[in-house]
Amino acid sequence: MIVYDGHCHVASTDFVPRAFVEGVAENVHSRLSARGAAPDPGRIADSYQAQLQDHLADGLVAEMDRAGIDRSVLLVPDFSHRMACPLTPREMARRHHEIRLRHPGRFWVYVGVDPRHGPGNLAFFEAALEDYGFDGVKLYPPCGYSPSDLSLYPYYEICAARSLPVFVHTGPSVPCLDTQFADPLNIDRAARDFPGVDFVLGHAGVTNVQTAAYLAAHRTNVYLDIGGFASAATLPSWPVHLNRLFRMGVNHKVIFGTDWPLGRMTGGLRGIVREVVEGPTVFAGVPRRDRLLLLHENLLRVLAPASRPAAATPRAAGRSRS
Ligand SMILES: [Zn+2]
Repeated sequence: MIVYDGHCHVASTDFVPRAFVEGVAENVHSRLSARGAAPDPGRIADSYQAQLQDHLADGLVAEMDRAGIDRSVLLVPDFSHRMACPLTPREMARRHHEIRLRHPGRFWVYVGVDPRHGPGNLAFFEAALEDYGFDGVKLYPPCGYSPSDLSLYPYYEICAARSLPVFVHTGPSVPCLDTQFADPLNIDRAARDFPGVDFVLGHAGVTNVQTAAYLAAHRTNVYLDIGGFASAATLPSWPVHLNRLFRMGVNHKVIFGTDWPLGRMTGGLRGIVREVVEGPTVFAGVPRRDRLLLLHENLLRVLAPASRPAAATPRAAGRSRS
């Protein structure tokens, strides 16, 4: 069974700001405190930071091989408007291009943008698509903007012209960011105004299931990501949760994704994929046809035709379509 992972990150301190790691540690700390025992948030952050050393994604590719994941989407969120970041968005784009060249045929890349960087950022975005052949856009609205903000429309016009998907974080984030912009309903206006652009709601199959499921059911261009399902502290049993989701009648709209390196905390990609594909619960009562949609076909549908494996040869020197 072909498995594609629609939601991964390169586990590197080059791409994940320290402030973000500290925010994740704060979340963990407050959860553990409520249960009575919690290590110091600084210590939690240090231990996460120590795991973000896979700068070239060699470790990720080894994990994918062990798990039987053929190909993954690398998401590159742009936090630079709200946090000090080690690299500029431009440098991060170049590094992800190099990572893709290092591991041919293993990654798609969605480049991060923040509409508040001004017109120069639109030029950067177009150049990243042109020079590196990136496959989609990643938005992180908790940084302080709605995904339906008009300042994003020039980006969406480019996505429509190039048939590129837009991946939008929804749901909880770190305490220093704005949760109000993480509601999946914020996508509604943009989804209506850009029927030719596919919007993938990050984590929405885990954290906002009811709202996101009716959006996906009634907007032809809205999809649900399940990234983070195996690490969501709110789920008592993720196989049971996924099985419930996969019986809601929206399997043509749900995209499998792990949110690596989150999976590292729960035993690695191999155990997760094995439980999904071979375990007794996740696919119980889910037709084989739907499993194919969930594990790879839906992702291929939202990717630009030129990004699909059948056309996975470089279009021109200096560009990667790996
Ligand atoms: Zn993620």
